[in-house]
Amino acid sequence: MKRHKLKATERRAIYDKCDNHCAYCGEYIKYEDMQVDHIMPLHKGGADSIDNMLPACRSCNHYKSTLTLEQFRTNIERMPDTLTRDSTTYKIAVRFGVIKVVRPKVMFYFEKWAEFDKKQEAAENGE
Ligand SMILES: [Zn+2]
Repeated sequence: MKRHKLKATERRAIYDKCDNHCAYCGEYIKYEDMQVDHIMPLHKGGADSIDNMLPACRSCNHYKSTLTLEQFRTNIERMPDTLTRDSTTYKIAVRFGVIKVVRPKVMFYFEKWAEFDKKQEAAENGE
């Protein structure tokens, strides 16, 4: 599917979605460094619309690539296994306690942001 060229106002609206942060890892990103990610990849039927776009840092955008959100989450959660398979340095670091493996349920920055917004709204409405 062909993607449409974003207007400056659209690009700005995407950047503003997560208050200057990568929607996935939460790192601060400069406007000019922002990459636009399609939450549901275009070739998996995702829409080429602002609703399906999030601001991403270069590394998250590269790593997520054509994965869906849940595939991306699963890949991140399995990183200790991938590293154990692929990196002797990692394995040794774990054995010596230099790296402690924790396995949190991965939550993306934009998801935390949405939760925060909901709480703010509830507080403002006296709930
Ligand atoms: Zn990121």
